[in-house]
Amino acid sequence: MRQPESWGHSTVRTACPLDCPDSCTIDVTVENGRVVKIDSGDENPITRDFICGKVRRFADRIYGEDRLLYPAVRQGAKGHGTFSRVTWGEALDLIATRMEDIRDHKGAEAILPFCYGGSNGLLTQDTNDAALWRAFGTSRLARTVCAAPTGAANMALYGKMAGVTYQDYPHARLIILWGVNPAASGIHLVPYLREAQKAGARLVVVDPRATSLARQAEIHLAVRPGTDLPVALSLHRFLFEEGHADQAFLAEHTTGAEQLRARAAEWTFERAADVAGIDAADLRRLAELYVATSPALVRCGWGLERNRNGGAAAAAVLALPSVAGKFAVRGGGYSMSNSTALGIKAAAWMNDTPEPPTRIVNMNHLGRALLEYDSPSVDMLFVYNCNPLATMPDQNRVLEGLQREDLFTVVFDQVFTDTARYADVVLPSTTFLENYDIARGYGSISLQLVRPVIEPVAEARSNPEVFSQLAARLGVGEAEEEIDTLMRISSRLPATIGAELMERGSITPPFDGAPIQFVDVFPLTADRKVHLFPDELDRQAPGGFYSYRADPATERYPLALISPASEKTVSSMMGELRKRAAMVQMNPLDAKMRGLSHEDPVRVYNDLGEVHVPLAINEDIRPGTVSLSKGLWRKSTYNGSTSNALVPDSLTDVAGGACFNDARVEVALLGRH
Ligand code: SF4
Repeated sequence: MRQPESWGHSTVRTACPLDCPDSCTIDVTVENGRVVKIDSGDENPITRDFICGKVRRFADRIYGEDRLLYPAVRQGAKGHGTFSRVTWGEALDLIATRMEDIRDHKGAEAILPFCYGGSNGLLTQDTNDAALWRAFGTSRLARTVCAAPTGAANMALYGKMAGVTYQDYPHARLIILWGVNPAASGIHLVPYLREAQKAGARLVVVDPRATSLARQAEIHLAVRPGTDLPVALSLHRFLFEEGHADQAFLAEHTTGAEQLRARAAEWTFERAADVAGIDAADLRRLAELYVATSPALVRCGWGLERNRNGGAAAAAVLALPSVAGKFAVRGGGYSMSNSTALGIKAAAWMNDTPEPPTRIVNMNHLGRALLEYDSPSVDMLFVYNCNPLATMPDQNRVLEGLQREDLFTVVFDQVFTDTARYADVVLPSTTFLENYDIARGYGSISLQLVRPVIEPVAEARSNPEVFSQLAARLGVGEAEEEIDTLMRISSRLPATIGAELMERGSITPPFDGAPIQFVDVFPLTADRKVHLFPDELDRQAPGGFYSYRADPATERYPLALISPASEKTVSSMMGELRKRAAMVQMNPLDAKMRGLSHEDPVRVYNDLGEVHVPLAINEDIRPGTVSLSKGLWRKSTYNGSTSNALVPDSLTDVAGGACFNDARVEVALLGRH
């Protein structure tokens, strides 16, 4: 193992833990200790035929020029990107000393750990890292940038009951893809959709863009961003008021139907269509199709949560199969995240270190936290599994905060991210091909062992190792080898799952990985009922749950900016490999009104900032909406700002989610004001 040059040729089976629903089994070919090929493996039947282009070229990240190779400390001014190499011991000593100093003078809450699912496995987050932060008493991060509102809605309504999995899509005769584009994220669903269509299933897509799947759909509702809630409520109104609600199901399995009915009452098809900018006749057609077809399946994505009405919109969509009585048949019901389907909870290992009552910081407020919080101020930021300068709202304020000379920032990452440029200390982390992990699918119900297939590149170290070493230095834990963390965590998994995982490298999912809702699985709420009108969310939501908050567009900033996932990055991961400037997509009508032509350099702007990019005129995007990909790095635009520079740090109706799609902007030729 110490002489990689002498290695021969081998293919190693592992799994992809990145933040993607599919959780592919992958086979990695290694020659002389280097990854030369990454392709699909046949363990996971859903992903056995292919993997995405992002991970096929993951070696470009591992060996790319942006890869962090050694620990280093800042030399020049913040942001200049000048660092000098130090040893791991020196780097960890420096960090530990600074942490103790801050704790002694300001309190440990002045330290903010900052992470999100970069490598989304069970070991890279919420293990030794969380134990360290808890034991030291740092501020706690509310990880709300994605899936918080939909997660809260799914939890409140169904207790996160397992949803319909990919294998059962071909049984559906109607599939509604709502706020999701599997062709970009969750690509293994696409063949199942095709199979369903071949078998006669009808497809409906709700998305502001005419995606490839929307173009094949029988009905495409190109809704104005942020208006999914009234659209879904108009379907409920139809179900309730025109005698299509399944009263027997509602009586036996739900609470809150009358309150939902009352909140939906004002949303006629005409009114909802007017607000959403769609045709009322299409809405009625969808409603009638939904009533008439079984099995009918609603795939609720994450696109509809990214606005001020996000939690209620997700809940209203998830409530549809309950009100229409679409459960208890294979291929019927809803599908969302299956991350909790195996009953795995980090509490099983985290409860060894109880959570102290420390300050909670919403990650969507990073800019504010760095610039405004003063009791105590944030004096140290420890970033891992995350590139917040690329991914958080209100980018200019995040940047201003990172530039604070009195802020001590550590970035522990695989590559030299936009955020790392502003660090005081950078630490190199392993990729999932260099460390152990446990990959949990959230589209499929699966759990797989992630094995290191190559030695760590240069001096990269794994998360569990580094956080335990830091904890040992601070006297709040013991250093642990990564393999020991793996054994400890796997021993805390539900018994049969842990044993099978370690023996076979994967598990046999319950119900063959394809449970039928209300036959095999039931709501996991306390009373086992569906809560169609959850009181706790009603208390949280401004104006009450299912209340629509109007579009924030103004005369100055009339265009809605959306930032959907692309097929090039997993959130911002792999964004370093993008070579050309990203383009903002605009409908020809909007371009004509502004005298703009294809490939014109434009400024997309509002009061928060501006982004300089080339324009792509594209009739696939609805008029009044422009689109710039999610996950861009600063180098992918002309001026180093991305869509997040235009996104307010306002929060969703419930659960403190990010309102990416509430950015309202204007677009003009660069140089013309
Ligand atoms: S990112 Fe998704 S599709 Fe790509 S290899 Fe990983 S799990 Fe598969």
